[in-house]
This record gives sequence, C-alpha cells and structure tokens, in this order.
Amino acid sequence: MRIARYAAALLLAAALMVPAASAIRLVKPTPPEPAAAEPVETAREAEPAAEEETDWKLLLVNPWNALPEDFSVELVTLATCGLKVDKRIRADLNEMFFACRDAGLRPLICSAYRTQATQTRLYNNKISRLRAAGYDQETAVEEAGRWVAVPGTSEHQTGLALDIVSSGYQGLTRKQADTAEQKWLMEHCWEYGFILRYPEDKCDITGIGYEPWHYRYVGREAALAMRDSGQCLEEYLEALEEEAAGDSRTSRT
Ligand SMILES: [Zn+2]
Repeated sequence: MRIARYAAALLLAAALMVPAASAIRLVKPTPPEPAAAEPVETAREAEPAAEEETDWKLLLVNPWNALPEDFSVELVTLATCGLKVDKRIRADLNEMFFACRDAGLRPLICSAYRTQATQTRLYNNKISRLRAAGYDQETAVEEAGRWVAVPGTSEHQTGLALDIVSSGYQGLTRKQADTAEQKWLMEHCWEYGFILRYPEDKCDITGIGYEPWHYRYVGREAALAMRDSGQCLEEYLEALEEEAAGDSRTSRT
C-alpha cells in the first residue's frame, strides 16, 4: 500500500517536471500538490512565446536605458564588410543592402556590433578630442555623450544597429543626408524592418543628435508603423505601453 502510494507520487512528480522545464524561467516551481494535472495547464498558459518573439526587436537602449546586464546576442559576420550583427537581422539587412545596390548606389556599412571595450575606446577618444579642442573636462564629457553613447548605452552593443554611409562620401556629418544612398535608405529602410533611429526632429526624445547614417532593426511591422505615425522608437514604445494599459483596463471592466 505504502509502496503503491510512493510510486504514484513519483509518477505525479515526473508528470509535473516535463512541462515545468520548458517554462522554468517564468514559473516558480509549483509545490507538488496532488491536484492532478492543474499546474501543467498553468505552466503552459504562462509562457508568452509570441510576445518573446517580438521583444528582441524592440529592445530600447538609450541614454536612460542601459543594455540589460544579462544581455547576450548570437552574432554573425557580414560577408560584405566583415562586421558583425545579430544573426536574426542578417536576411533583412542583406535584402536592403542589395536592393540599394541594385538601384545603382554604393552603400557601405562602416559600423555594426560593438563590444563594451570598443564603445569605451570610442567614447574616451571623443572626450580626448574635445579636451584637445579646448573644452573643459565636464563640458567635454557632456558633449561627447551627445555624439558617442556612454558605454553600456549604445545601440551598437545590441547587434541591431548599423552605420551605413555612401562609398562616395563617408563623413559622419549632416552632409551624409544629401547623398543618394541616404536618400534611398531613408525612403526604403522600413520595407526591410529598419528605421533611421536618430531623426533631426527627435533629438530631445532620443537624447542623440541627428545621425543620417544610423539605422536600427525593429522588424517590418514596427518599422512600417513608425513610418506611418512619424514616431521614433521611444514614442512608439510609449504608445504601445499606453495601448496595453488601456486594453487591460477595458478587459477587466
Ligand atoms: Zn551608429
């Protein structure tokens, strides 16, 4: 009798363990209550698989939102430039890049994924250049942050951002916006899931000066929505949050 009950408990424990493993990050281990299969259902419902699918594309990294500490990314090297990006954006990026070339243009990817060490070096170099140009330390640090993201807050560390310039004019200046390559990219990037991340009229919201060369992958759906609404990523995410809050209010009443 006792053995039979023990065996039944073992079977129940085994039944509970299988689905729990797939949802282990989301659901705290359920105490093995002898309430048959109920916890199994809970575990399955709690797994927001579809939501997780889109989240990585909308990761917000800006002066106020540093890269998550546990951030990791699977990178792939681009054949066209030897630089690395998140492997999930390669197909769309290549499609955009070659469509731009097919239009008779010569785009050049000059920066993609950066490690924390690279970002730190770029940031410190910018401060040094500003100091050499006569800025005091405090102003140099402030000004540097407008042009080179403080290490840990650069989108380039996500593997989702790229600097693309014209082969004919590679300067990272406002003049970049006048090149045929940028005109084409600004008009078509959303078709491939990219946005011009730091537009001229959104500097106060993005915290970054106008960069007519920095493109960010957000996925085709979000890119199209942002093009239609004229929102930058910060505005788009805020609207999404408001919408979600509105939905949950409605569904509860
Ligand atoms: Zn950039």
